[in-house]
Amino acid sequence: MEFEPVIGLEVHVELKTQTKMFCRCLNNSLETIPNKNICEVCLGYPGVLPTINKKAIEGVLMVGLALNGKIPEYSKFDRKNYFYPDLPKGYQISQYDMPFIKGGALPLFLSSDQEEKKVTIMRIHLEEDTGKLIHGLVQEKAVSLIDFNRAGVPLMELVTEPVISSGKEARLFSQGLQVLLRALEVSEADMEKGQMRCEVNISLRPRGEKNFGTKVEIKNLNSFRAVEKSIDFEIKRQTGILSKGEKVVQETRGWDDAKEITFSQRIKEEAEDYRYFPEPDLPPIHLYSEEEGGGLFDLEELKKRLPELPWEKKKRLIKEYKIPSEGANLLVQEEKILKFFEETISCFEAFDLNAKEKAVSLTYNYLISDILGIKEKEGFLWENLKITPLYFSRLINYLVQDKISSRAAKDILLEIVKNGGDPERIIKERNLEKVSDQSVLLPMIEEVVKNNPKALGDYKKGKAGAIQFLVGQVMGKTRGAADPKVLEEIIKNKLKD
Ligand SMILES: [Zn+2]
Repeated sequence: MEFEPVIGLEVHVELKTQTKMFCRCLNNSLETIPNKNICEVCLGYPGVLPTINKKAIEGVLMVGLALNGKIPEYSKFDRKNYFYPDLPKGYQISQYDMPFIKGGALPLFLSSDQEEKKVTIMRIHLEEDTGKLIHGLVQEKAVSLIDFNRAGVPLMELVTEPVISSGKEARLFSQGLQVLLRALEVSEADMEKGQMRCEVNISLRPRGEKNFGTKVEIKNLNSFRAVEKSIDFEIKRQTGILSKGEKVVQETRGWDDAKEITFSQRIKEEAEDYRYFPEPDLPPIHLYSEEEGGGLFDLEELKKRLPELPWEKKKRLIKEYKIPSEGANLLVQEEKILKFFEETISCFEAFDLNAKEKAVSLTYNYLISDILGIKEKEGFLWENLKITPLYFSRLINYLVQDKISSRAAKDILLEIVKNGGDPERIIKERNLEKVSDQSVLLPMIEEVVKNNPKALGDYKKGKAGAIQFLVGQVMGKTRGAADPKVLEEIIKNKLKD
C-alpha cells in the first residue's frame, strides 16, 4: 500500500519590538545577564496589570497583509492556563478563537520548480513568550535555573493548513517565511538564536484516503535542515510501522541532530485542556473600522507601507535582469548583496540597450562566481569586502568594451575585493589593456615562431595543439594582455605565408 504524508507546521516567531508584549521591559533577545529585563508584570506579581504593545500587533498585521490573510475588525486576548516553571503567572496570555489573522497563503517562491505551490495558512495569533530553563551543575549539585528575560516577549504563532507533502516543501516554506519576516523587518527570525522555532505535525494515510492518520508532533527543530531531515525520517519510520500493519503512537518526538533520527519525548493520550477564557485584564481590541476614524489601525496605511514582497521581487529580478532562478533566490535572501548588485547596475544607466544587457549579465556572473567565491574562500563577511558598486561597474565596463581579458579582470577583482581601489588606476599602472594592435603583436609573434621551430613543424604537420602552444607563448610576452582569439587569427594568417 502506498502512503501519503500530511504535514502542517507551527512556527513561533519572536517579534523585534523595543519593549515586551505587556510591560515596558526591554525586549532584547541577545541579553546575556540573566533576569536583567524583568518587572512585576512579566513576573506575574499579584495585582499588576498588563498593557498591550501596539507595535507587536502591527507586526502581526503586516505579516497578515503580506500573506493576504483576513483581519477581523475586532479581536481579543485569552488566557491559556497551564503550569510550568518558566511561566511565572501560571497562564500565558494568548489568543484562542479570535486570532488577528485567518487564512492567507505563502508561495514556495524559493522553489526552483516551474509551478509555484502555495501553502495556505490556518491562523496567525499573538502571545507572550515564556522564560528559559537552564539545567546544569552548581558546586557539583544538579540545579535548574530560570532566566525570565524572555518572559513576556511578543511571540507570533503561525499555523499552516496540513497541506505540506514533503520535508523539502516544509524547508522551503520556513526559509521563505524567514525571508518575508526580514523584509517586513518584524523579526530577525534567526533559528539558531531561537527567534524562529518550527514544530512539525505529521501523519500518514493510505493514498486517496480522506481521514487523517495518527498525528506525531516533532519539536525543537532549530535549523531548516532539521525541519527537512526530521520529516524525511518520520515519513520512513511511519511508513515502516504502517506497512507492518501496526499503529503509529500519538506522541511528541524530538530531533537528534547528530544521529539524524527522531525520538519519543512524551506520549499524548488526550488533548490537553488549557481552560481558555477571555483575558479579564485586557480590553477587547478594535483593530480597524470599515468607516472613517475608528479602531487602532488604518489598514490602508499599513498596506502602503508593505515593501516589495520577496516573491514579487524574485519575479522582477528574473524578468528585469534575465538571471536564473537560483541566482534570484540568493539575491532575495541576501538583501545587502542585492543592493550592491542593483547599485552596480544603476551605474550603467547611460548605456545603450545592447551594452546594458551585456553589462548586467557580466555583473551577475562576476558577482556570483568571483566576488562571492573570494568571500567564501577567504572567509570574509560581506560587510568587510572593500569593493564598491562604482569601482565594480568600472571594471565591468572594461569587459563590456572588450578592453581587458577575463584573466586580468579576475586578478583585479581579487585585489579590489580584498583591498579596495579603482580598477582604472590598476589597469593603467600595470598596462593591462588588451593589446590587439598588430604592429605591437607581429614582432612578438615573429620572435616566438623563430624560437619554437618544433611547434612550427608540428603545426605544419597538422597538429592542432601546436597553435595553442604558440598563442600561449605570445600571451606570456604580453603578460596576458592580448586577446587569445585575435592572436590565433594573426598567427594562423602569418603561418600561411
Ligand atoms: Zn516586564
